[in-house]
Amino acid sequence: MVCFPLIFLLTIADSHYIAIGMTTLQIQRRIAQLQQQLLALGRLHPGSISEQYNICGTPGCHCKAPKNPRKHGPYYQLSYTWRGKSSSRFLRAEQVETMREKVANYKRLRELVQEWVELAVALERAEREQAK
Ligand SMILES: [Zn+2]
Repeated sequence: MVCFPLIFLLTIADSHYIAIGMTTLQIQRRIAQLQQQLLALGRLHPGSISEQYNICGTPGCHCKAPKNPRKHGPYYQLSYTWRGKSSSRFLRAEQVETMREKVANYKRLRELVQEWVELAVALERAEREQAK
């Protein structure tokens, strides 16, 4: 594996560095970092959490008061689609914080994987350019 410093590459030929300005060594190091970050991800779950306020059927309840109605809630709902199937369920209040972390970890997973794939494609291109 040939890994020239970027400055050197810039002086030889434009074709020897990739669009994002990283050397093949820098790309490989960044991929290794991403792999470590992926390993360190905790529990995860796809989806998003929404807050809902509801009206009940009890006559005279404050949720339907003509003046300043106070709806019931918040109720927290987790919604997600996985393998084409949509799902949604309510969370107990004490589950919300943990689920927020899982949802954030899933989002992070997607970001890390996307960057890894982008770098993988860029690395291939950089190596092809260097082989010329
Ligand atoms: Zn009510």
